[in-house]
Amino acid sequence: MNRFTLPRDIYYGKGSMEVLKTLTGKRAILVLGGGSMKRFGFVDKAVSYLKEAGIETQLFENVEPDPSVETVMAGAKAMREFEPDWIISMGGGSPIDAAKAMWVFYEYPDAKFEDLITPFSFPTLRTKAKFLAIPSTSGTATEVTAFSVITDYAKGIKYPLADFNITPDVAVVDPELAETMPKTLTAHTGMDALTHAIEAYVSTMNSPFTDPLALKAIHMVFDYLPDSYEGDMNCREQMHYAQCLAGMAFSNALLGIVHSMAHKTGAAFSTGHIPHGCANAIYLPYVIKFNAKVAEGRYADIARSIGIEGTDSQCVDALCKKIDEYNVKLNIPKTLKDFGINEEEFLQKVDSIAELAVGDACTGSNPRPITPAEMAELLKCCYYGTPVNF
Ligand code: FE
Repeated sequence: MNRFTLPRDIYYGKGSMEVLKTLTGKRAILVLGGGSMKRFGFVDKAVSYLKEAGIETQLFENVEPDPSVETVMAGAKAMREFEPDWIISMGGGSPIDAAKAMWVFYEYPDAKFEDLITPFSFPTLRTKAKFLAIPSTSGTATEVTAFSVITDYAKGIKYPLADFNITPDVAVVDPELAETMPKTLTAHTGMDALTHAIEAYVSTMNSPFTDPLALKAIHMVFDYLPDSYEGDMNCREQMHYAQCLAGMAFSNALLGIVHSMAHKTGAAFSTGHIPHGCANAIYLPYVIKFNAKVAEGRYADIARSIGIEGTDSQCVDALCKKIDEYNVKLNIPKTLKDFGINEEEFLQKVDSIAELAVGDACTGSNPRPITPAEMAELLKCCYYGTPVNF
């Protein structure tokens, strides 16, 4: 038996945040990140809309980037004291991911964080509150997905939590919030969205339900990302929808080894963090070449859907070339070396990173199985920019 789960309602379009005026309930907790939503006036707007609906609002602010287990527990405690019937989270991926995990511990105070690590094993939610998410970035699509990433800093581990219970009830995809994104974030989150859609389309879990969402998202990213990056707000709006479509696809079809590699290299080097979307953008063409050995036809479908012609293998080459061209337009480097990762440190760490990447939760749905030795080879291709021919 397979399952396809999305939020009950998705409100979209400029000003769609006004839907908050129509919610029914008594109390809402608003989970927020570092303060940009407040600075741009969106928090005041949300609170006043909720007031119009007769809902009392409490803020839970300052969820950090890469939210911690401690923040999740503190938020759950605040929820237990305030007893909201709506959990609303606004901002980038981090506050929304944190709020999803808080929700579990609000409804199940005796649950242990360790209990949630096993995918699709959560207790039944919505006994106390419903969940509404309002994203301000155009990439993670956490407003429609069954995922949340929480970091255990004591153990130095990032836990990807996965369960359809935490798929939000309502998503508000209001492009006015995405207008606040800086240029580099627009590029990185946009390429993250493209990677979500491409990985979902070739995933072993792909289905007739997810394919159209993935293909439309890919088409839209190729059409709108460069101008969105250059500041065209109509294109920024379309990108906000494209990333949401990609999220609907990958929440149900899962991802692949581009994400496995990005997860395990993001914080691995002393020269600095590699932003998630930037890492995906660098790895994507190399992984397509690796996976094409078994999934050439699926990648060719993608290429043809954006107007590329030729044999399957010509289509795959042209798709990779197109991604390379987009990376150039978006100022994303072609290799880890160009990104600035030190060669000696890379070579010293590559085997252990490869091992971890093979063990990542996203590897299981990659179309082509991979060994740690092949993963190390692939990472070396991404470092030096050498062709993938194995
Ligand atoms: Fe991603």
